Amino acid sequence: AYNFNAGPAALPLEVLQQAQQEFVDFKGIGMSIMEISHRSKEYEQVNGETQQLLLELLGLPSGYKVLFLQGGASTQFAMIPMNLLTADKVGAYVMTGSWAEKAYQEAQLFGETFLAASSNESGPLNIPALSDIRVPDNAAYLHVTSNETIAGTQFHEFPDTGSVPLIGDMSSDILSRSFDASKFAMIYAGAQKNLGPSGVTVVVAREDFLKDSPKHVPTMLRYSTHIKNDSLYNTPPAYSVYIVNLVLKWIKANGGLSVMEQRNIEKTALVYDTIDNSGGFYEGLATKDSRSIMNITFKLQSEELEKAFIKESEANGFVGLKGHRSVGHLRASTYNAVPYESCKALADFMADFQKRNG
Ligand code: PLP
Repeated sequence: AYNFNAGPAALPLEVLQQAQQEFVDFKGIGMSIMEISHRSKEYEQVNGETQQLLLELLGLPSGYKVLFLQGGASTQFAMIPMNLLTADKVGAYVMTGSWAEKAYQEAQLFGETFLAASSNESGPLNIPALSDIRVPDNAAYLHVTSNETIAGTQFHEFPDTGSVPLIGDMSSDILSRSFDASKFAMIYAGAQKNLGPSGVTVVVAREDFLKDSPKHVPTMLRYSTHIKNDSLYNTPPAYSVYIVNLVLKWIKANGGLSVMEQRNIEKTALVYDTIDNSGGFYEGLATKDSRSIMNITFKLQSEELEKAFIKESEANGFVGLKGHRSVGHLRASTYNAVPYESCKALADFMADFQKRNG
């Protein structure tokens, strides 16, 4: 299948094949990794190595800690304000779409919030200019959604926030490109797009930023609990972490983030060029300067044509091209594991569809 699902999404074929090989006998122990204690030396090795690999790929200096949590990125929307918003501070948010909105709404349950900037209210979808982002002095943090999965928009540069810690929801673009991760006090991502299967949520943060969680926060929702226990306070989603381990090794073996970025730019250019050269038959939903290299959103000139497009694309082996129900239209998600060939096939299909219907 040409898998353009938004999430859970494509995984590298080599990773699935290796997992298949090790499925019933993990490294000669005669059992699956799913069947052993998370306190075993085999799992501790996976836990430690996966953390190290992630720090290495992100190029982070010492002082950063990786956590493997549960509850999805959605639980981070709550854990962030629960742990970090104090009575004299505000949580500042950049409003870029549905996911930023969810994070912002959740913070309002716990304290004062501040709208640091917003995307345009009408017209093509965009990311606000960095110069429009206002960060108040009493901000506990500034939260950005680096890639809006539904809108198909992506920050191409991140704001300088001075002494205010920067937090990024990178659920849909973590490890898709090189960037200066040390600008961030904390990055988080549900694994199910670029990192592995659902079930594990990855947090990468400066240890000093997260280590003092307030005591009224429930134990499992305190970052300090998971830092102190190296993500082994309770039973972790061991199989998901194991697949993340294989995905990170795959990224490393393929050249790391700069190679991922190059590939993602090249393969999405095939589809964006097809849209731009269609004379208006296809129209991108995002402004050109805010386009995402992970989620390409576009439309056709009528609902009828879009229905025909989906139907024919499915008959031709394309999966997941229907837009999210909140914005409709069409979306191709092009995470790291989606090969160039799939985007080439999509671009060819789009050109052919236009020839027959334009
Ligand atoms: N943030 C972004 C940018 C997302 O794309 C998603 C899921 O698609 C989420 C958060 C929510 O993630 P989860 O389903 O892991 O809670």
